[in-house]
Amino acid sequence: MGERILLCLNHMSGRERDFVSKAFDGNWVVPMGPDVNAFEKDLESFVGSEPNTACVIDESGDTRWPQSDWTCGRAKKVVALSAGTAAVHLALIACGVGPGDEVICQSFTFCASCHPITYLGAKPVLVDSEAETWNMDPDLLETAIKDRIAKTGKAPKAIIPVALYGMPYKIDRIMEIADRYGIPVIEDAAEGLGSRYRGQVLGTFGRYGVLSFNGNKMITTSGGGALICPDAEAAKKVMFYATQARESYPYYQHEEIGYNYRMSNICAGIGRGQMTILDEHIAHHQMLADFYAQEFAKIDGIEFHGNPGPEFDSNFWLNTIVLDPSLKVAGEENAYAEVVKGAVGGAAGVTHEAKSAHTDCEPNRNVEAMRMALDREGIESRPLWKPMHRQPVYAGAAAYVNGVSESLFARGLCLPSGPYVSLDDARRIVDVIRKNIK
Ligand SMILES: *Cc1c(COP(=O)(O)O)cnc(C)c1O
Repeated sequence: MGERILLCLNHMSGRERDFVSKAFDGNWVVPMGPDVNAFEKDLESFVGSEPNTACVIDESGDTRWPQSDWTCGRAKKVVALSAGTAAVHLALIACGVGPGDEVICQSFTFCASCHPITYLGAKPVLVDSEAETWNMDPDLLETAIKDRIAKTGKAPKAIIPVALYGMPYKIDRIMEIADRYGIPVIEDAAEGLGSRYRGQVLGTFGRYGVLSFNGNKMITTSGGGALICPDAEAAKKVMFYATQARESYPYYQHEEIGYNYRMSNICAGIGRGQMTILDEHIAHHQMLADFYAQEFAKIDGIEFHGNPGPEFDSNFWLNTIVLDPSLKVAGEENAYAEVVKGAVGGAAGVTHEAKSAHTDCEPNRNVEAMRMALDREGIESRPLWKPMHRQPVYAGAAAYVNGVSESLFARGLCLPSGPYVSLDDARRIVDVIRKNIK
């Protein structure tokens, strides 16, 4: 058995070292500089790029899409930051969110979509997913808006849909509803860099768009993120808050609270190198998705999560499957026998020991047994993200639920999907899964 196969480990283009060396030579080892500016320009041209998909002619002979005004991506300005979480935080500030406000957030997400709402003393209102994209259910979104207005007398301050595992949300409907109620949309495309809806890059539909370059995302700057802003003025404001809100005086003058969230020039150098292989990374993830889709179509009781329609174009950051509850997996009787010792999800070295092997909401035994079977073969997999409305820390949050995300959490597994996963690796992964079905 060779190296352990990880969920999403990025490889370097080889150019990163050159950019970083130049930064050292120029003494630009600071949270600003030429690489930060150049990385932002690279990102701006990427998010403003033309649709990558040909028009589809429907039965009536009409061109169906691209019909969206994708050129709006061209007006966007990008601000590079120290993390995707920082981008969510600053987007909320830019939307005027403050103590006591409510913000609607997709419940089926990683905690970073939601936590910054809490940092600001505002309250998350959690909205469940629809079963096609696994992202924010537009019908439930409207129910939530109406109900919040009825209960509190005011509309939520922002709406955060999330491109979970890279899959685009139903952005047309979400934007239509958000516009009707005059609520700004902050797209959390941290996992969806390069995913498109009707040919348009995610993160360019809403008022703000969040990107992440954490170690395991589509590209890495070791750690980092960016906020896609509607125009230069908005970007300037975001930059102000990202650099401790310094007023322009010869001395430090502070009239507002700011943050130390600007990206380091060294990280941006890595990012510039990574941008040269972003398209390659996306193509690789999508190639693996095609393979997994084809293989799992042949296995009863396992369903691959693919694009639900031609307008959706996922980057397949993580490829995901769901296991039918009736599927029998080897070793089910031993699932959850022990308390897990390490931290889940690559927070290396940081562990906060679990109190028990169980919680009141966890993946089915066959899912955990499959995870353990893959682990024994040196293959990393991970349950789907546990919805925020089932997280103890958000037990008190208002939630509008339909059972979709909780059911997916019980049944789903993320499979290795990064550039280091070869087609042979994927073949072995599917084999291990097949062999462990009883
Ligand atoms: C990773 C992630 C973030 C935050 O990005 P960081 O760069 O890790 O801070 C936000 N939202 C989602 C959905 C993510 O997966």
